Amino acid sequence: MSDEDVILDVEHVKKYFPVRRTFLQAVSRQSGGQVHAVDDVSFKVRKGEIFGLAGESGSGKTTFLRTALMLTAPTSGSIKFKGTEISRFNRRQMKKFRTRIQVIFQDPYESVNPRMTVFDIVSEGLYVNNLVKSREDAVQRVTKALSDVEISPPEEFIYRYPHELSGGQRQRVAIARALVLEPELILADEPVSMLDVSIRAEVINVLLSIREKKGISIIMVTHDLALSKDMVDELAIMYVGKLVETGPAVDVVSSPYHPYTHALTAAVPVPDPDAPKIRVLARGEIPTNISPPPGCRFHPRCPFAQEICKNEEPPLVEATPGRKVACHFWKEAHEAFSKGMDAPAGAEIAQ
Ligand code: SF4
Repeated sequence: MSDEDVILDVEHVKKYFPVRRTFLQAVSRQSGGQVHAVDDVSFKVRKGEIFGLAGESGSGKTTFLRTALMLTAPTSGSIKFKGTEISRFNRRQMKKFRTRIQVIFQDPYESVNPRMTVFDIVSEGLYVNNLVKSREDAVQRVTKALSDVEISPPEEFIYRYPHELSGGQRQRVAIARALVLEPELILADEPVSMLDVSIRAEVINVLLSIREKKGISIIMVTHDLALSKDMVDELAIMYVGKLVETGPAVDVVSSPYHPYTHALTAAVPVPDPDAPKIRVLARGEIPTNISPPPGCRFHPRCPFAQEICKNEEPPLVEATPGRKVACHFWKEAHEAFSKGMDAPAGAEIAQ
């Protein structure tokens, strides 16, 4: 694909939040520090692509989504939507941009108003943005959006209330609310994590089908690597505000280069009972973004860490064609993972 297909181009985006000073810091005129929520993140999302952003809670994924929507301005860096810098949009352009990029939230119970009918929920954006001329027009567009998310027959559901719907139907109504505005990019924040396993597949299929039929790009925030492997085209792994590995999702999940990615894949079910049982587990908790560890941020938890890791931050570089990793010892780590070899001293092995 050429650069003309790029919908969202993110370059060196940082988002820091100031920390409120304690009384002692205020008296001694010290700074309270900063939360490094997103730290020098770059990637591109192309037309019709599902781009995954994965990592533990606190890794900066959701803050990035808020920044991409300009709900909070980046501290520095550039975010271009179809080649235009979004921070330079005027009010009119920003209003239009907000219809081109839509969000699906994690919790279908919270993201729809229980006092509104399905019609009111889905048509609200049409009225707010003056995109319909009459009620008949709105009914027609809402009906079409409900059919697109496989709520059928739509006429039967259009005047129902959320409590009359199942969790899967409620999430599909939330998707229809995004779709009715004919977006080019959907930001999906853990779209199936609150749903029962039995109804996840139907929502996943709806997302795959709208990408297929309408060519809509999707950025999907998730901590579920098994889901990413099946659904996502390009996957980026985030750790304490930084990208540590990127590449085609199938390759990143089945053959990780970065020790952190490998730790995340420990939760992915392996159908082969004879597969190597090595599991390099991340030790301890994810560190705070207020004062991230120096050098490689993963070093206090990494079984492969050496002296250089404490002092030198590894850059995100192309390791093999199409794959990037930020690790001084990715080759050694990858070899250990792929061969199920003994891990180096300090590694924790799950048998
Ligand atoms: Fe581990 Fe060092 Fe690689 Fe960081 S740079 S992931 S600490 S081996």
